[in-house]
Amino acid sequence: MKKIALIGSTGSIGVQTLSVCRRYPDKFKIVSLAAGKNTALFSEQVKEFCPKVATVAQQFDGMDELKKISEISVGETAFTDAIVKDADLIVIALVGFTGIIAVLDAINKGKDIALANKESLVAGGELVIRKAREKGVKIVPIDSEHSAIWQALSFDFDRPFKKIILTASGGAFRDKTAEELKTATAADALKHPNWAMGAKITVDCATLVNKAFEVIEARWLYGAPFDKIDVIIHRESIIHSIVEYPDGSFIAQMSYPTMELPIQLALSYPERLSPVVESLNFSKIGKLTFSELDNNRFPAFGEVVSAGRKGGAYPAVANGANDALNRLFLKGRIGFTDIYAGIAGALSAYGGGAVEDYESLKAANDFAARFVKEKYGE
Ligand code: NDP
Repeated sequence: MKKIALIGSTGSIGVQTLSVCRRYPDKFKIVSLAAGKNTALFSEQVKEFCPKVATVAQQFDGMDELKKISEISVGETAFTDAIVKDADLIVIALVGFTGIIAVLDAINKGKDIALANKESLVAGGELVIRKAREKGVKIVPIDSEHSAIWQALSFDFDRPFKKIILTASGGAFRDKTAEELKTATAADALKHPNWAMGAKITVDCATLVNKAFEVIEARWLYGAPFDKIDVIIHRESIIHSIVEYPDGSFIAQMSYPTMELPIQLALSYPERLSPVVESLNFSKIGKLTFSELDNNRFPAFGEVVSAGRKGGAYPAVANGANDALNRLFLKGRIGFTDIYAGIAGALSAYGGGAVEDYESLKAANDFAARFVKEKYGE
């Protein structure tokens, strides 16, 4: 029985993680969970899974009833209370920069992590991986592309490879012209062609910032220099990523798009459990297509990868600016193309800085948030 702490239980990844746990009550036990503001769903989850500890970002009516089931704590960062001693695996499914607080706390407590929160590796990959190594903490990926790479490497993070090829669906705006992108709205951006996900990552897919984030994630998870990471547009989202080996072999992982498969594998690894998705029907699929990523229409991709290449606190600035701009775009306060302009503006205004600890990352994140607020409001 694996004891799971789930941080971000009410989101897209959180709910799917619980669905995996629900299917295998003899294999996974939820010992703690942490939610943000969705107190109705949080209450249902506490009643169903009866975790020892449950945390939520804000007070709400009905909490007294839950206190009869679980130890409850409340607050914006109360989720660290849910990273409990007796958990075997911490699933980190928070969204945005906040995720790094959970990641660093889990590492300090010596707990293995199943990581969905990519922003923590984008902003602080160097620090996170160094600390994880020092503490002997294993970080396994939930992100489907990184799960694909992990599988293509036979679960061996140190296996030598020639290249990692990340596939990208291209997001909701893959067929829009540069002119059309100027008036694209949040409602349009949320109509992802292949995946149903949380709002923030769906917008990040539309800008292709998400794909740049995945390049940086791959850099840290697999120790891959940037020159060994390629991205290709693959509209069907059947191949989730590919590893090229020195002998010329390419190993790809495929399935119909579903996050439950990589989530289940992150929980059950090294065991593979029963299928969560129907078998691929190749004759029905007919063909798979591939094309180059168009950085002219989606310049945020190149901008964020460049920040990753620069290193230091630059990626934390790119991530912090994107977090703030993405929120403003979802609120309808800025246009789609302002996201790229805002990220580029924050990066060129930033004077650089080293990453020594969480405080230096937070300072870079705050710099970016301030820059966006001054230029675009809140
Ligand atoms: P969602 O927005 O759907 O969920 C975010 C979760 O974080 C919610 O449970 C939310 O709680 C919780 N949360 C936010 N702030 C706090 C807080 N202060 N304390 C406790 N909980 C908090 O995001 P997704 O599930 O889509 O994404 C999560 C991460 O996984 C992101 O980093 C994303 O990039 C990554 N990812 C997601 C994929 C997907 O398919 N969704 C695919 C690959 C990666 P509440 O809702 O109660 O406010």
